Amino acid sequence: MSDQPVQRADLRIDVGAIRDNVRVLSARARESGARTMAIVKSDGYGHGAVTVARAALESGADCLGVASLDEALQLRAAGITAPVFCWLHTVDDDFGPAIAEDVELSASSLAGLQRIEAAAAAQGRVARVHLKIDTGLCRSGCPADLWPALVEAAAKAEANGHVEVVAVWSHLACADELGHPSIDAQAEELQRAHQQARAAGLDPIRHLANSAAVLTRPDLHFELVRPGIAVYGLDPVPQDGDHGLRPAMTFRSSVVLTKRVPAGSSVSYGHTWTAQRPTTLALVPVGYADGVPRTLSGRMSVWLAGARRPVVGRVCMDQLVVDCGDDAVHEGDEVLLFGPGDRGEPTAAEWADELGTIHYEIVTGMYRPRVTRTVVDDREPA
Ligand SMILES: *Cc1c(COP(=O)(O)O)cnc(C)c1O
Repeated sequence: MSDQPVQRADLRIDVGAIRDNVRVLSARARESGARTMAIVKSDGYGHGAVTVARAALESGADCLGVASLDEALQLRAAGITAPVFCWLHTVDDDFGPAIAEDVELSASSLAGLQRIEAAAAAQGRVARVHLKIDTGLCRSGCPADLWPALVEAAAKAEANGHVEVVAVWSHLACADELGHPSIDAQAEELQRAHQQARAAGLDPIRHLANSAAVLTRPDLHFELVRPGIAVYGLDPVPQDGDHGLRPAMTFRSSVVLTKRVPAGSSVSYGHTWTAQRPTTLALVPVGYADGVPRTLSGRMSVWLAGARRPVVGRVCMDQLVVDCGDDAVHEGDEVLLFGPGDRGEPTAAEWADELGTIHYEIVTGMYRPRVTRTVVDDREPA
């Protein structure tokens, strides 16, 4: 990895890791007879939606899931023909192009279903629709009391020929808390909603499981699973043991200047850190504009020249400073800010723990205008 030139602020995306992760996840799904929808919303959790989508489809994923219509159409524009499901719609979304491109849509209400049906009729096509039941997350999804009317309307729309109901689905609130009573309660609600859909004359599949449920609840795989974060090698349930996932994103930079400073030298804005002895400082040209949170000032380290070394003083917009003691550190040396962790570097999970957030937020926020993203593919697809 380190024999290639290091960009100033570079995200390396290990496509081989994504393939391996999808193989792990889709094998688990297949064991329970389920297909796999790889979730590539938010630009593939910051990894690059098209890159991840292709890698996932090569490695056992059957279809793709995204939040917005734009994200779905981006996959189609890249030439991806696999089924794509898109679930978050605004009231004035134009469904026409999505229906023309065979993007599957979600309906949580009668009004939402009617908008899809009208757009399909205008296109002279059949829209494939997943009906969403709110089983307890209280976000999107149809409340249980309105569900019978929704499935009746969906059955009529199907009979009218412009809608095909392919699934009844929902989303879990606490799947990462093993044994949380809401998990079973939500699954039971989904089953009830599915039975009502069948009673109305529909024949949909069911899907509920996010990554945490793919890894820990095979009984909730139903006909299709929707892993997101685990595709990227980040484990939502590390307390359940090692699931054999490998983080695909490495954030790296390189040393642009080293200097020897005397004891008593204070570093960066506000002089919040002072050298207690003569030491060598390394300047790294990344800062909070590149995704290094300023609140990690004084609380983070990097992997540089064979060791973990502390970042000292404040993280600035464009720069940070690493204390290297008396070790030999050179301009041009690679600096790993986070990665899979197997070379000793920090991980995105470590950043998240330190910040009081989740690794999802770290990787999703990393790709910015000034940051390069390099796809590394050193393994052949199987
Ligand atoms: C983001 C998302 C997923 C994937 O969740 P992970 O926890 O990343 O596996 C699945 N389904 C829906 C509806 C989502 O919004």
